[in-house]
Amino acid sequence: MTICIDMGATEIKVAPINQNKNGMAMGSVQKFPTNASLGKKGIVDALHSAISSLCAPDVDGVAIASAGDIDVDTSVITYATENLPGMIGFDFAEFCKENFDLPARAINDAHAALLGEMEYGAGMEYRDKRVAMLTLGSGVGGGYYANGCIVSDEQNDFGRFGHICIEDGGRECTCGRLGCNEMYLSGRAIHRDAAAMGIDGPDIFEKYALGDEKHVEFVSEFKKNLKITLDKVMEVSPFDVCIIGGGVADWMAEHFDSVMNDIGYKIIRASLGNSAGMYGAYAHYLKR
Ligand SMILES: [Zn+2]
Repeated sequence: MTICIDMGATEIKVAPINQNKNGMAMGSVQKFPTNASLGKKGIVDALHSAISSLCAPDVDGVAIASAGDIDVDTSVITYATENLPGMIGFDFAEFCKENFDLPARAINDAHAALLGEMEYGAGMEYRDKRVAMLTLGSGVGGGYYANGCIVSDEQNDFGRFGHICIEDGGRECTCGRLGCNEMYLSGRAIHRDAAAMGIDGPDIFEKYALGDEKHVEFVSEFKKNLKITLDKVMEVSPFDVCIIGGGVADWMAEHFDSVMNDIGYKIIRASLGNSAGMYGAYAHYLKR
């Protein structure tokens, strides 16, 4: 059994994956608050609790997807915004070895989500294509897949589609720059903007599909910002298909296609939902 972790700014998801002769199967997913407001100690304690919850004699290791930039060779966080305060330099492999005597491999959560979708989800039939992914969650993650693998470099700069500037002099981002799309397209941004219009709620996209004027206005603005993002992604990372996942895609649910159908690109919804990161972490772990 492998313990699979997806560590985001708000929660840590953990689930076991078992591999047997019939293939692989993920067990039930548990969630722990990341406690990022408590700083590094809060986060590390939460991570410890998440791994401890599944520790058993038959565990072979820990597969981790995490926010921030991860050196995939050493499993060290090389960069993180204030979403994960104090975590730059954190070594997942050392942590798992010292605390649980288990090997670990870590990968950036957005890259993991894409890898998971390509190996086990919506991207399986597009492995011969160029695929870009946007994960619209608490933040906005990105990834790019071509020639059968995730395209990355040592600095993890490739596919950082969440910090593309879509408005000169726009909103201040957690990364310190202005106008990053994360400030417009993330779940947090949507909640904030919808609340400002008095329409925040689980039915935003349903009411859009039904043609409610205020919701059409709101979602049209979202679509405009998404299209600017995809136009810019296309300039640097030409893609045949874009997979969109994360909490915002789940929020759209059955209205996903009606939101995306006139944006001008082939856009498909991620199929692994909240588990994509854990599946991708596992796929990355298997390549050790
Ligand atoms: Zn930014």
